[in-house]
Amino acid sequence: MLIDRFGREIDYLRISVTDRCNYRCVYCMPESGISLKPHESILDFESIAAIASAAAGLGIVKIRLTGGEPLVRKGIGTLTKMLGDIDKIKELTMTTNAVFLTDEMAETLREAGLIRINISLDTLDPVRFAEITRGGDIADVLKGIESAKKSGFDPVKINMIVFSETTAEEVEEMRGFCLDRGLVLQTIKHFSLYNRDKMIGDVDLFDRPAPCSECNRIRLTADGFLKPCLFSDKEIRVDMNNIEKSILEAVSGKPFQGTACCNRSMYQIGG
Ligand code: SAM
Ligand code: SF4
Repeated sequence: MLIDRFGREIDYLRISVTDRCNYRCVYCMPESGISLKPHESILDFESIAAIASAAAGLGIVKIRLTGGEPLVRKGIGTLTKMLGDIDKIKELTMTTNAVFLTDEMAETLREAGLIRINISLDTLDPVRFAEITRGGDIADVLKGIESAKKSGFDPVKINMIVFSETTAEEVEEMRGFCLDRGLVLQTIKHFSLYNRDKMIGDVDLFDRPAPCSECNRIRLTADGFLKPCLFSDKEIRVDMNNIEKSILEAVSGKPFQGTACCNRSMYQIGG
């Protein structure tokens, strides 16, 4: 069992399998453009599986695959199977924009051991969707949702980011859409990784995805760094010769409550 310095049990690892994405969501990628890590610095499947195995040996039981967009990683079905085969991992899930979630892909992922899929969809308005994703076609996502359902994922969860501009009608419309299709809606408040001006002393005034006192996770970036906290620049390069030591260092390095992350954007972490 992995317990951090504040008594929190850490049993959840989020793995970013790529920093590449077919979208350019306004809240995820800087307007100034993105700088991608060179291919050779991205972890190969064997390394990811070795890190996941070591993590499972220490007490991790849940893994979520994310990115960038996980479905743009070539061979994602193979990687999913490698992780699905790790005995001690009880929950293997994925967050995706679903554009490449064809019927075949959904079936492959399910057979590989993925038990749940979260699909990001912030609005049902095609024009606003294109604005948010900087050019996306909502029809692609709707098709992906159907594929997820068809292949038997149950429930299929919809992640809807709620911004200051999101209207109550938009949320209601999404609620109805999900209800009609048996989807589970999760609204997530938009947050900033580095909104320092909203901090007063060490009092946290900005929205967090979950209360820090309940944090149960660490993150692995596509280029092989463990991030103990989403709201911190701290990261530990995984020593492939002593993976356990790196994981223990990440867990013991978790702050009770991070303040800001200025060295990476969301597409480089995975949410
Ligand atoms: N590309 C995939 C997707 O969009 O589902 C996976 C990666 S994305 C970074 C993971 C999740 O983080 C998505 O649900 C996305 O909406 C969310 N996200 C990204 N930036 C965010 C922000 N600033 N505030 C809240 N959620 C954010
Ligand atoms: Fe891509 Fe997901 Fe970020 Fe949108 S939120 S740019 S789909 S990684």
